[in-house]
Order: sequence, then structure tokens, then C-alpha cells
Amino acid sequence: MAYEYDSENIFAKILRGDIPNDTVAETELSLAFRDINPAAPEHILAIPKGAYVNYDHFAAEASDAEIVDFNRMVARITRAVGVAQAAGGEGYRLITNAGPHGVQDVPHFHLHILGGRRLGRMISS
Ligand code: 5GP
Repeated sequence: MAYEYDSENIFAKILRGDIPNDTVAETELSLAFRDINPAAPEHILAIPKGAYVNYDHFAAEASDAEIVDFNRMVARITRAVGVAQAAGGEGYRLITNAGPHGVQDVPHFHLHILGGRRLGRMISS
């Protein structure tokens, strides 16, 4: 089954500049911005600029350049916000939700970068 991308999703609107965002990092291929409803002291969303609905879509169909750019941007962010242990921080969590069982609200692939406090066990319910 082919992936279907809804170009009216909220992150597509952010990428078009229709909705403002608090940008943390940007490259030609990727964008990162603060989550509007943070679940931790650091809560950043990293997205590719390409139209991918979730992780498996991105990993399967994005170009090597997009995949490398996205992952390197995420690593720069964890260091820049000081959650990476290599930057003196105490660690972080990366989460990506996909589909109804993953409880994905926005159907544009995004990685949650969470840190700044002890986050507890991975799944609470
Ligand atoms: P999901 O449940 O799809 O993994 O997560 C979607 C995330 O997007 C949520 O954490 C939510 O707070 C965030 N979000 C939803 N709308 C906006 C918005 O307009 N701006 C920003 N910065 N974050 C948003």
C-alpha cells in the first residue's frame, strides 16, 4: 500500500510558513522547532522538509542526503541544548509515533527530542 501524505497537516503548514514556529535548527532538508505543548524542559520536534508520513516512509523512501542531514541535525541539537552526555548533559529520549497504535497526531514524520529531567519509564499505559 502506498503512503498517502496529507499536505494540510500542521507541520506542512509550518514548513510553508503559514503557521509560526520557534525554530531551533534548520538546514536545506530538515527543520527543528520547539513543541507547542512541551512534555519536558527540553521538547523539540525534528522533521524532514520532505513529505513523509512517518518513520518507515522516511527511512524507506527518503534520499541518502535527507536521511544523513536529518540525523546529523538531531545530533547537533542534542549537543546544543546540552542533553547529550558528550555535551555534559544527562541524556535524552527520542520518540517517534506512527499511526493509531503509536498515537500519532500529526501525519508528517517527526522525532520528539525530550530531555532536561528524568523522564521515567518508557510506556506508562
Ligand atoms: P504526535 O502525537 O503526532 O507524535 O506529536 C505531535 C506533537 O506536535 C505534539 O507533541 C504537539 O504538542 C505538537 N504540536 C501540535 N501542533 C503544533 C503546532 O502548531 N506547533 C508546534 N510547535 N507543535 C505542535
